[in-house]
Order: sequence, then structure tokens, then C-alpha cells
Amino acid sequence: MITFEGKIEKWSCVFRECDAKCCKRDILLTLNDIERIEKEFEDFYYKNDADGNYYMKTEGGRCIFLQDDLTCRINRIKPSICRLLPFKISKVSYGDEISIVLTPLVECPGYEHGVETGEEFFEEIEKSALRFLREYQQTHQKLKK
Ligand code: SF4
Repeated sequence: MITFEGKIEKWSCVFRECDAKCCKRDILLTLNDIERIEKEFEDFYYKNDADGNYYMKTEGGRCIFLQDDLTCRINRIKPSICRLLPFKISKVSYGDEISIVLTPLVECPGYEHGVETGEEFFEEIEKSALRFLREYQQTHQKLKK
């Protein structure tokens, strides 16, 4: 189940205004992300032994695929988590049914500016979030084996 917390009525990605801040945080990868990206690139991820998760490598605090013009070099095949913007995952619960809470990045300069969000916008985010959750679960099931 996906829950959206907080409102967002308009949004546009203004990556040149914030210097692509979203590409300067930890980018969690699923095994599906890794398998897809490694068909074209190598040496782009690492495993964090502290939490058991896989992450994108960084250079100078930036994702290694963030280009000088602040665009994504792998936009077509980018990780599932990058498709959740302008939301962040604020909570994941595993019960009878897995649930995820998404909160808008209110600190984003594009928040409540630009294009009006509507049903389609939320449907797309929901699809991406479900895909991320499924892939994340599969990743952990495989790692437990
Ligand atoms: S994969 Fe692309 S969108 Fe995702 S953090 Fe890296 S540069 Fe940004």
C-alpha cells in the first residue's frame, strides 16, 4: 500500500537551481537496478556492510553518473529510487501487507512551482514506488539465501 503524506499541487525539476541536490545523496540500488545498469557500465556500485544495502558510487559527494551539465548520464536506465522524485520514502512497514509512505521534498526549489500535479502524476509515482518496493524485497530475499 502506498500512502502520500503532505500535499504537492505543483512541481517542476529545477536541477540547475539546486545544483541537482537529489543526485548528491545516498542512492539505494536494487539488484534489478544493478543488473540493468551493468549491461552498459561497470564498477558503479558498492555494498554497505553496515546495513547490507547496495548503493551507487559517488565522486566528490555526487553520483558518478551526474554529468557536468547536471543531467543524468543514465537517465533511460536510472535506478528505481531516482524515479520517485519529488518524493522521498519516509517509512516502510512490513506486515501482512507491505506499506510505504511517501513525503514530498518540501525543501526542493521546484516544490509548489511549475507544472500542476494531477491524477496521472500520482499514478506514475505510485507505479514507481510499487516497482521499487517489489525490487527491494526481491533484493533482500536473494541476499538472505
Ligand atoms: S542515476 Fe542519474 S538521476 Fe539517479 S542520482 Fe545518479 S545522476 Fe541522479
